[in-house]
Amino acid sequence: MRYIRHLTPDGPAWATLTPDGDTRAIAGDLFGDFTVTDRHVTPTQVLAPIAPTHIIGIGLNYRKHAAEGGKAVPERPMWFMKTTTSVQHPGEPIELPASAHEVDYEGELAIVIGRDAKNVSPADAIDYVLGYTVAIDVSARDWQFKLGGGQFNHAKSFDTFCPLGPFLVDTTEMTDPDNLRLSTQVNGEVRQDSSTADMVFDVRTLVSFLSTDRTLPAGTVILTGTPEGVGYARTPPLWLKPGDTIQVNVEGIGTLSNPVVAAQS
Ligand code: MG
Repeated sequence: MRYIRHLTPDGPAWATLTPDGDTRAIAGDLFGDFTVTDRHVTPTQVLAPIAPTHIIGIGLNYRKHAAEGGKAVPERPMWFMKTTTSVQHPGEPIELPASAHEVDYEGELAIVIGRDAKNVSPADAIDYVLGYTVAIDVSARDWQFKLGGGQFNHAKSFDTFCPLGPFLVDTTEMTDPDNLRLSTQVNGEVRQDSSTADMVFDVRTLVSFLSTDRTLPAGTVILTGTPEGVGYARTPPLWLKPGDTIQVNVEGIGTLSNPVVAAQS
């Protein structure tokens, strides 16, 4: 099944997109008990499909992306946190911070954990996944590579640096997340066009590794890394600027689109 979250007069609510093209209200909690009602809804403001409890990003998880940055493929998943305050809704602007000057896009497949996961084997990992969505792991390269003291969190966690959505596709509909075409366009120009088949660590391995001796609470979002074609690896580097529009499409999930603006102080 396929879900969206949207703003209603009573607050955020989920809805499901039915195969016959209808949009029907969900009663209950996607992370608990819920039912699909008969009530038709017309969303006016689509939100990120969940409000994450944690956001984990995976670095260097595509072979060709590691190669374009001159980096070796990691032996184990390399990860960092993005703050939950960095989430942005579909269609809403990515704000370029005054304190960052080399801001880049990373189109990604995102895993949504559906129930608390700890010490989960790769074989059982999908049982803990609610579904998948599309993410842009916006990254300030000056802070990531030069100013951050060796950690990525500052570079990855500015406000609006984690657009998510608009669709959440569950594991009954998305059965093979490790073989999906993923493409990113900036102003209609293709910048990334790859496949999740190039991932070093697949979905099952990531969930298992991250849950080892550590709880991944329901609502955790795992950004699975980005393929080749990012702005910093180009000559000269291409940084985001006000007026740009980023579109990321993941096969079988949909397209996430966000404009870029200068942050208002
Ligand atoms: Mg990333």
